[in-house]
Amino acid sequence: MPDLEALLVVQEHDTAADHLRHRRATLHERDTLAEAEAELAGLAAPLADAVARRDDVERAVLRLEDEVASAVAKASEVDKVMYSGTISSPKELQNMQAEIEQLQRYQRTLEDRELELMERQEALGAEVTELERRCTAATATAATARAALGQQEAAIDAELAVEASARAAAAGNLPADLLALYGRCRERARGIGAARLVGHTCQGCRLTIPATEVDRIRRTGADAEVAHCDNCGAILVPST
Ligand SMILES: [Zn+2]
Repeated sequence: MPDLEALLVVQEHDTAADHLRHRRATLHERDTLAEAEAELAGLAAPLADAVARRDDVERAVLRLEDEVASAVAKASEVDKVMYSGTISSPKELQNMQAEIEQLQRYQRTLEDRELELMERQEALGAEVTELERRCTAATATAATARAALGQQEAAIDAELAVEASARAAAAGNLPADLLALYGRCRERARGIGAARLVGHTCQGCRLTIPATEVDRIRRTGADAEVAHCDNCGAILVPST
């Protein structure tokens, strides 16, 4: 029988590597990073939309300010002509007075509208600020998680390298066909390719092996074929 003890050592390192790979795949920073990236992606459109709406209102406020300025300029122009002493017709002066009053009413309407828009502008500004704050927070969370994830992955990769070289050392003297058989058993039995037989129990699946079968396994000589657990299929290694 080949050196099955060495096969158990290979199994130990394979199991350790399986655990490390599982830990690497399920690092909680990976979820944190994915959540932060999803939040950032989800914020992009609402932020662009809020900025566009705020900018529209800003432009509308500027247009109103221009209109107010020209109404004021027009009124002052009429006022200047009115009081220049060059107009003597009372009817004409009355018309000019009416025009000034009409321009002043128009100015007030524009200013009321401007005030409304400025309130709207302020609300949209606050909305943009809040969305930007959330973007900044999510960016920081993602950066922290990315850095932590990188560190933990590197640490696990270093442990995996240690396991790989220890496995290679243990597997070095085992026949290739036995290692291949072990590999097939491992695939079938969710990671357990070789297990210690303690008493009547397979340590791979914890099931009891019939006594006659245990006797047969223990009696096998150096040239015997390896025995498998009937339940999980692992190569059984009798305790010496
Ligand atoms: Zn078993």
